[in-house]
Amino acid sequence: MTIQNFISYGKQNIDEEDIQAVIDTLRSPYLTQGPKIAEFERAIAEYVGTKYAVAFTNGTAALHGACYAAGIGVGDEVITSPITFAASANCVRYVGGSVVFADIDQYTYNINPEEIRKKITSKTKAIIPVDFTGQPVDIDEIMQIAKEHNLVVIEDGAHSLGATYKERKVGQTADMTMFSFHPVKPVTTAEGGMIVTNNEEFYKKLMQFRSHGIEATQYASEQGAWYYEMTDLGYNYRMTDMQAALGLSQIKKLDSFIERRQEIAKKYNLEFQKNSRVTTPKLLVETSSGWHLYILQLKGLNRKEVFDLMRAANIGVHVHYIPVYWHPYYRNIGYEKGLCPVAEAWYEKALTLPIHPSLTDEQINYIVDTLKSILKK
Ligand SMILES: *Cc1c(COP(=O)(O)O)cnc(C)c1O
Repeated sequence: MTIQNFISYGKQNIDEEDIQAVIDTLRSPYLTQGPKIAEFERAIAEYVGTKYAVAFTNGTAALHGACYAAGIGVGDEVITSPITFAASANCVRYVGGSVVFADIDQYTYNINPEEIRKKITSKTKAIIPVDFTGQPVDIDEIMQIAKEHNLVVIEDGAHSLGATYKERKVGQTADMTMFSFHPVKPVTTAEGGMIVTNNEEFYKKLMQFRSHGIEATQYASEQGAWYYEMTDLGYNYRMTDMQAALGLSQIKKLDSFIERRQEIAKKYNLEFQKNSRVTTPKLLVETSSGWHLYILQLKGLNRKEVFDLMRAANIGVHVHYIPVYWHPYYRNIGYEKGLCPVAEAWYEKALTLPIHPSLTDEQINYIVDTLKSILKK
């Protein structure tokens, strides 16, 4: 077999059309706060099927904005998954709230609604479920829990733009849904993020928050065209027009990217579902995954050994994610190992295989053959 160059677990897919879109914007009068942002927001809102979309500098800033819009603050508790990128929890800390971790389901890898119920107290204000690996969470069940307890649901859809739940695109159901446009995510703007919502009040707060807390007020309009009012403390979390132009060009290709990811996942499932040394990921019925990540669970194997052998073969396997509360920051504020036993046991056995639209069939076969021969040893 030919020696492969390093195959990364995820990667952007940029073509000449994308490059031209950015160049055209560089030649236009606006580098930021021009027409491309609103166009990109409209394109995402239309794609997902929501009334509003608000672009941010990145997905983390977008989550920060959503926590602000939801009114989360000191004394509030917010429930999220421990198996996620730290930003899903950190956004709660930015606004002074406390993070409560609810355990996952070991087969879908997503937060378990029954565990959410167990963690609700009189202080619970919101739930941040994460569509981990691109697989939608059981959002109808989570919305039902939220309704019973008057909670806001902010779905972390960083992995799941284009995925569907009961024929509805992710983003239509939660109160607010975040998408990330980091290069490894479903489509990219280099750095970038978005909140989609159908709620006008949240929409207005998000717009204000991303632009210094400035708001269009009656008083300001009476003073003259130069006048504006900053009515709350906001941030500069604005995306640039160059990034939005790239996003507009990328979104046209999203469905074909997902199709390719689904093909690769199908191949991995086929190759590994009968292998007694691994467990393949399970999907909820009536969902389709965006397959941002493909994660196997190893059975009775030393994960580090398998990981190192795959890396030595130039295959960029990875591990997503270290339970968030294991990080020293969270340990230092009182979280202890053992909090979510299913998640912790799951983490010890998890191995991410490369999956992204530009992987070739030859590379995929090489990954499959290499892993199979390691599993045999
Ligand atoms: C990438 C990611 C984020 C943060 O998005 P950025 O655009 O990188 O700030 C949040 N949550 C999850 C699950 C992610 O994977």
